Amino acid sequence: MTRDAMMARLEGHAGLWDIVVIGGGATGAGVAVDAASRGYSVALLEQSDFGKGTSSRSTKLVHGGVRYLAQGDVGLVMGALRERAALRANAPHLVRPLPFVVPSYAWWETPYYGTGLKLYSLLAGRQSFGASTILSRDQALARIPTLRTDGLLGGVTYYDGQFDDARLVVNLVQTASAHGGVALNYVRVAGLTIGPSGMVDGVVVQDVESGREIRVAARAVINATGPFTDGVRRLAVPDAPPLMAPSQGIHLVFDRSFLPGSSGMMVPRTRDGRVMFAIPWHGHTLVGTTDTPVREIALEPRPLEEEIAFVLETAASYFERAPARADVLSTFAGIRPLVARGDIRNTSSLSRDHTICVEASRLVTITGGKWTTYRRMAQDAVDAAAASAGLPQRACVTRTLRIHGWDPEAEQHGVLAVYGSDAAHIEDIQAREAGMKEALHGGACSAAAVAWAVRAEMARTVEDVLARRCRVLFLDAAAARRIAPRVAEILARELGRDAAWQQRQIDEFTSLADQYLSTAAQKA
Ligand SMILES: Cc1cc2nc3c(=O)[nH]c(=O)nc-3n(C[C@H](O)[C@H](O)[C@H](O)COP(=O)(O)OP(=O)(O)OC[C@H]3O[C@@H](n4cnc5c(N)ncnc54)[C@H](O)[C@@H]3O)c2cc1C
Repeated sequence: MTRDAMMARLEGHAGLWDIVVIGGGATGAGVAVDAASRGYSVALLEQSDFGKGTSSRSTKLVHGGVRYLAQGDVGLVMGALRERAALRANAPHLVRPLPFVVPSYAWWETPYYGTGLKLYSLLAGRQSFGASTILSRDQALARIPTLRTDGLLGGVTYYDGQFDDARLVVNLVQTASAHGGVALNYVRVAGLTIGPSGMVDGVVVQDVESGREIRVAARAVINATGPFTDGVRRLAVPDAPPLMAPSQGIHLVFDRSFLPGSSGMMVPRTRDGRVMFAIPWHGHTLVGTTDTPVREIALEPRPLEEEIAFVLETAASYFERAPARADVLSTFAGIRPLVARGDIRNTSSLSRDHTICVEASRLVTITGGKWTTYRRMAQDAVDAAAASAGLPQRACVTRTLRIHGWDPEAEQHGVLAVYGSDAAHIEDIQAREAGMKEALHGGACSAAAVAWAVRAEMARTVEDVLARRCRVLFLDAAAARRIAPRVAEILARELGRDAAWQQRQIDEFTSLADQYLSTAAQKA
């Protein structure tokens, strides 16, 4: 899967595409997989890198949403639990069950949360990831030895799913490609073309790398641009009223010592009435998130000072050793593409269910939802597009469709387990090519993994490699900054770029990595 080959397929396609998808996040990549596996011709167009938007910035949970159960949205929870089970079956190399501890510091918490979490486990039925049980104080501490001991009474444990979000986007793109779909990164949809009947009949694309303009004609166009949804809708109808009520959430990443066991922690009710998680992820501790309504939609949103302070303050009241600003290894923000309903000043009460909107121009917009439900969202979007464009009806097959990398024995590849069946290719590069064993960060980010990212995963920049193919930028921004020159060197060799390109890549990545560092860490 190389970009040049994809571009040739895009431009060489004879006639109309059945479906063009705008946006290469979870939703768009899911739509491309769904459409391609039904046998429709489909082209997926992403303005930046696959997963650059919200889909690489989640809490990395494949979950029914305990919080929505508390809100009484049983249907939403059950639907998501079904998707959780399907995703684990279809991408076992990326999704694993994770036990969570809900610590109790008040007498009523264990019976209250114990009942709710028992119900949550029961709702999953045979697809449960594990039973919920009540924990004594000692059992809670055995699972999370770093819990604040003062006032700790015990807790409740339950199971949910955990995954690597950016790697799943790449694997979805590879799956779509394997089923005949075309997917391109760094192509921005700058306009929609309107036919004589007033219907959208294609897109105008700008190749971000060359500046070239390309016209792509289609029977159906699906807008899957997450927080950018309204901007794309307004390419067809400039005064379209807003559909979105976007909300920002941030995460802080610390080293493993804050959460040394194999359990995550869930705080069911923070000071602002939200849920907060602390999760072991790729040998680090991920803590978040927040829910801050935003007006500006940026591809690289910045965490607000008050959000960082809030996460630190909440973490401090649950950990024996309060994490400090200087402990933060990386900070990242993402924007939830929530659908506006009711009071948009309070985004945490907005539904995480998805919305499909077929405009009078026949542009199909799919938005809202969450990562966990991307497959169901894609199915509904393709059904809607096929119906409105009069495509021949074909049944969705993704419920049991294996995702690229599928390997239930992936754990045998150790740090390369997230690559699933592709781990063997990386091991092969390490064994056959000189210098490719070189470890850049931990075992997972090696020279071979960088080469593989270019050769098979369409990585184009240092950021693509360090933010989304390997996750170093999200785990430890200072370490990512340190290895950027070596990554740029390997990329330049693989892509045939000159020294000036290499230097520009290092400069651009360094200033990005600075944003992911906390101010305290930058001074250190
Ligand atoms: C802080 C946070 C934590 C979350 N945690 C979880 C979780 O743990 N579990 C869960 O299930 N869900 C979670 N979610 C929700 C989930 O991450 C999102 O619902 C999902 O990622 C949205 O995917 P998307 O594809 O719709 O949007 P995006 O990932 O933002 O993708 C949209 C894409 O469209 C592209 N685009 C925009 N305009 C154009 C254009 N003109 N031309 C071409 N491309 C364009 C963008 O570059 C972008 O890549 C979380 C969300 C946030 C913010």
